[in-house]
Amino acid sequence: VGDESIIDYVYKVVVIGDSAVGKTQVLSRFTRNEFCLDSKSTIGVEFQTRTLTIQSKVIKAQIWDTAGQERYRAVTSAYYRGALGAMLLYDITKRDSFDHVARWVEELRAHADNSIVIALIGNKVDLEDKRAVPSEDAVEFAENQGLYFFETSALTGDNVEAAFFKLLEEIYSVV
Ligand code: GDP
Ligand code: MG
Repeated sequence: VGDESIIDYVYKVVVIGDSAVGKTQVLSRFTRNEFCLDSKSTIGVEFQTRTLTIQSKVIKAQIWDTAGQERYRAVTSAYYRGALGAMLLYDITKRDSFDHVARWVEELRAHADNSIVIALIGNKVDLEDKRAVPSEDAVEFAENQGLYFFETSALTGDNVEAAFFKLLEEIYSVV
């Protein structure tokens, strides 16, 4: 969709989670269908967009990337302001990144809107042989917290579309 004038809604979505879990690559897979194995950490806050159709409405997803701030636990409240959805990523091969998910949920509850829709994403499923987080652990956490749960691979693209579409459809149904 190239004509901005026909956009019905703009949805702000934030991507959060520990450094190196694949936030930037999941985002570039979704918005540009690209992947870069040796991506350097991003500098400066930025967002990418993708325009898509949900139930005949043209929706522009404006998806924000923490851009390296996660290292210093310095994601500011401005980052969360106005966000209707959040993609909370961990790396299925890094137990720490899953153990920190609860802290990220706290961050969201503290800084984001109460009604924010949250998807928990276990990324890098292409590295199944190095898995350190059983799916069941994440399913249980997601159920307890009322989050959607997906396992994705930015490398293969597995489930990336499904995860974003589910989140955006859910936002559409609640706003
Ligand atoms: P960020 O710090 O959370 O933004 O993480 P990046 O997107 O920069 O990714 C960190 C590293 O993990 C990079 O070397 C990526 O190429 C790699 N990576 C990201 N997603 C995947 C994935 O799904 N599978 C594999 N095997 N590597 C990934
Ligand atoms: Mg990044």
